[in-house]
Amino acid sequence: MEKSFTKVWESCLSVIKDNVSSQSYKTWFEPIKPIKLTNSVLTLQVPSQFFYEWLEEHYIVLLKKTIKKELGNEGRLEYSIIMENNYNNTSKPYTVKIPTNNKKELKNPSVSMPIDLNNNSIRNPFIIPGLKKVNVDSQLNPNYSFDNFIEGDCNRLARAAGFAVAEKPGGTSFNPLLIYGGVGLGKTHLSHAIGIQIKSEFPNKTVLYVSSEKFTQQYIDSVRNNNQNDFIHFYQMIDVLIIDDVQYFAGKEKTQDVFFHIFNHLHQSGKQIILTADKPPVEMQGFEQRLLSRFKWGLAADLQTPNLETRVAILQKKVYADGLVDIISYDVIEYLAYSISTNVRELEGALISLLAQASMNKKAITLELAKQMIDKFVKNTAREVSIDYIQKVVCDYFELPLELLKSKTRKREVVQARQIAMYFSKCMTKSSLATIGLHCGGKDHATVLHACRTVNNLMDTDKRFKTYIDDLNKKITIQ
Ligand code: ADP
Ligand code: MG
Repeated sequence: MEKSFTKVWESCLSVIKDNVSSQSYKTWFEPIKPIKLTNSVLTLQVPSQFFYEWLEEHYIVLLKKTIKKELGNEGRLEYSIIMENNYNNTSKPYTVKIPTNNKKELKNPSVSMPIDLNNNSIRNPFIIPGLKKVNVDSQLNPNYSFDNFIEGDCNRLARAAGFAVAEKPGGTSFNPLLIYGGVGLGKTHLSHAIGIQIKSEFPNKTVLYVSSEKFTQQYIDSVRNNNQNDFIHFYQMIDVLIIDDVQYFAGKEKTQDVFFHIFNHLHQSGKQIILTADKPPVEMQGFEQRLLSRFKWGLAADLQTPNLETRVAILQKKVYADGLVDIISYDVIEYLAYSISTNVRELEGALISLLAQASMNKKAITLELAKQMIDKFVKNTAREVSIDYIQKVVCDYFELPLELLKSKTRKREVVQARQIAMYFSKCMTKSSLATIGLHCGGKDHATVLHACRTVNNLMDTDKRFKTYIDDLNKKITIQ
């Protein structure tokens, strides 16, 4: 008889609890639900893709050890990921198999994971006569769906056009549909969304997403291997062809030429073409005129920078989808959305660094932390806090003379203030441990490291100490 999965997971948790901070435990382990144990494979349900990736990146060694301890060398782990489709709470879990004995494989779990879109290797098997069309892998990332694409003034036209195309591929006047806009505004996401929608409504249609770089590389390879005809053939039998970032075709005459022929063939046969680019056709340089004029045949729709309201909505959706609602307050979301107005990718990046910061430094995700992070990592305009300044604030706060802090004295209250100064210097300046040590009583780097650990530990265990740190944090960051 196998042990019960809840018991096994409980034992794992008790080990894990001792090995991670309480904040990390709360954030990354409490939301996990064990769901079954079969043949030494323990299946854990996690709230999102992001969550799974985070565990894999930061805690896999620990997980592996605890699983082996509980289930022996045969012990394996599988994740079941809840995919939030929309706000109606319809979630369909899918499973990723993680062999716990091979770390390398972890990066590429085999089952329905988003494909590596940057991978340049050719996955499309060139068509061999007689090969069934359905064998083409669409290369679509299931996370880039319409459901996950927030509508706003910035994308209304492009989104609506994309939707119309998805309802009637090749049957609207939006052919080609060209989506253009700056980096990180959602061109790739929207083009995938159209593909996903078509695949779900017309499962028999052959949809293919390809980046222009990959298309170019495949073409070059086909020339080298003397099978250009196979290459052209393959692309001519696609029903919905999505080519991302066509601006990279600029100056590549041969590639443009072959694309021109493929384009014509598809267009004449009523197939749908979807393109993305960083600018509208009128501004594109390095393109043959005949190709540019074809880009203008259908509809060119732009994506603009989202306004505050849309940015908030995008972050909320992300926070919801990643199961972080209880961890990040609305204030923090609004602050991020307010501070980062450039593009959606940076907005998401900020959210992820904030999570990382909070988890690494064992801090709760507060507005203070968000402010601090934005200043340090995003705006890059933040006033550099100096070690001297930190020492001064700490001394003022504890009413200690600065000379004492800089001296070698080992009086208890001075030692603690010195450790706190070291801790803040490490968190808030770019100085090395050695430099910090030098400034704080001529200590070495190991002493500074020890100080940081001590402060971290005390913050977890001593409420009063934690208040000191929070107060000082405010005083140092906000003047
Ligand atoms: P681009 O291809 O224009 O550089 P991407 O499509 O890669 O931009 O988008 C960058 C990130 O922002 C992606 O993670 C994407 O999911 C997200 N994103 C962009 N627009 C939206 C939106 N309207 N709603 C939700 N997420 C979005
Ligand atoms: Mg893109």
